[in-house]
Amino acid sequence: MGKPTGFKEFKRVTEKYRDVSIRVKDYGEIFTGTHDLEHLKTQGARCMDCGVPFCQSENGCPVDNLIPEWNHLIYTEQWRTALNRLHKTNNFPEFTGRVCPAPCEGSCVLGITNPAVTIKNIENAIVDRGFAENWIQARPPENRTGKKVAIIGSGPAGMAAAAQLNKVGHTVTVYERADRIGGLLMYGIPNMKLGKDVVQRRVDLLAEEGVNFVTNADVGGSGTMPEGKTAVDVNQLKQENDAVLFATGATKARDLEIPGRDLNGVHFAMEFLTANTKSLLDSDLADGHYISAQDKNVIVIGGGDTGTDCIGTSLRHGCKSMVNFELLSQSPTERAEDNPWPLWPLIHRIDYGHEESNDKFGRDPREYRILTKEFIDDGNGNVAGVKIVEVQWTKVDDRWNMAEIDGTEKVWPADLVLLSMGFVGPEHYASDAVNLDYDEHSNYQAEHGQYTTNVESVFAAGDCRRGQSLVVWGINEGRGAAREIDNYLMGDSLLP
Ligand SMILES: Cc1cc2nc3c(=O)[nH]c(=O)nc-3n(C[C@H](O)[C@H](O)[C@H](O)COP(=O)(O)OP(=O)(O)OC[C@H]3O[C@@H](n4cnc5c(N)ncnc54)[C@H](O)[C@@H]3O)c2cc1C
Ligand code: SF4
Repeated sequence: MGKPTGFKEFKRVTEKYRDVSIRVKDYGEIFTGTHDLEHLKTQGARCMDCGVPFCQSENGCPVDNLIPEWNHLIYTEQWRTALNRLHKTNNFPEFTGRVCPAPCEGSCVLGITNPAVTIKNIENAIVDRGFAENWIQARPPENRTGKKVAIIGSGPAGMAAAAQLNKVGHTVTVYERADRIGGLLMYGIPNMKLGKDVVQRRVDLLAEEGVNFVTNADVGGSGTMPEGKTAVDVNQLKQENDAVLFATGATKARDLEIPGRDLNGVHFAMEFLTANTKSLLDSDLADGHYISAQDKNVIVIGGGDTGTDCIGTSLRHGCKSMVNFELLSQSPTERAEDNPWPLWPLIHRIDYGHEESNDKFGRDPREYRILTKEFIDDGNGNVAGVKIVEVQWTKVDDRWNMAEIDGTEKVWPADLVLLSMGFVGPEHYASDAVNLDYDEHSNYQAEHGQYTTNVESVFAAGDCRRGQSLVVWGINEGRGAAREIDNYLMGDSLLP
């Protein structure tokens, strides 16, 4: 695939993001929005026909994207065929092409000796060109089966399942409690990383193909509903449909129950990010219905994508300072011995928010090996600082032990603290109403590949089943659940 000698001739060069000092002034995507097709042809040429493409197998792409094939098609300038091949395995390459951490590149065979092929850039360029050329059009099914499926939750898992089930003719209705469709693609991942027009474009296509979307519909909700929201009875959904899929995400955030947790100015990351996106979409932030970081000393506790997104959003508000606490040590710059290829490389990475913070304040915002002990009160119930202690990690009998280092206690000034320490699992109010079983992590109990729960005709997929994960895994699970539901409804399935 590619050019037989391409990997020897050409260096890996990724597409550049927009200039840091300019992009941080707006909420536009960090990407330039243009793809240099000649450049990508050269990058596709680096794919070296390795024989066993680990990039599309177990440790690589979770949706088994046909990567060497489209690398070759790009090298030979067959963009439209590349798009068709890409859509065979991935319903939403415009999402993964933007936000996927690209495990495929971590397991690229070229990566053993050289920098990996720029797979993610190529994926993104193929689908962006497909939209630009109007090659991507709604394709409603020719026949309907008469079977009805309700999907609860409209993130990548729910959307992928809806796309697949609709394709084979089932009548699909997606119920979403938020006022917009997309799950964390809409209210979670910020506009800088994934434009909401990009999400809406795909939602509109699915709607044109016949998927029904119901927003502001809180399935299993009870009591007085907030204005504009409707409670939907989950047992009634079960009765009225031939199958129900839970794709409700892992929305319960991990808390930090230390003194001062209830002070004003201490928030979960998602309170901050969701409100910002909603206000931005509703009114370009004019309605003021968001938590502002403007002129504030901001401390983000916890890293990962969510932590980075809090950093990027706070910088765009115009924060006074930015610090990001990490409990663990900084990762090595190269793979450690116990983290060999083709595993996901656990190495130090500089994400867009870190780069932007460095540009504004002259330093990477991350402080490592920090344990947060207390939020300090300003005397009026507002947070004024965060008391921490440094810790050290030592490995004893293959287990890491953490110990506080005496004399390292310190108070960092803070007017806004954002808790970004991951998610502990799905909420249970809708699932309890149909008596779903849970696994030991409180996720909905269902096997990967089968997606059946303990309740007849009820399935589960995505983060609510596997725990907090990635968009590409959501798509994998949504597609898999669609296949199993189709099989359940029809006795057989042609879905992949
Ligand atoms: C801030 C942030 C940034 C991230 N960045 C990335 C990234 O860069 N790359 C990446 O690959 N992954 C990223 N992720 C992870 C990724 O977004 C998730 O793994 C993925 O969205 C999970 O998909 P899902 O469909 O299972 O659930 P979700 O996307 O969480 O969607 C679940 C939906 O179900 C709805 N819902 C829940 N309960 C009900 C109910 N009772 N009734 C009606 N609706 C309900 C919710 O409102 C939600 O819209 C990020 C996550 C966060 C929080
Ligand atoms: S979806 Fe992710 S893992 Fe798969 S090819 Fe695209 S970037 Fe790689």
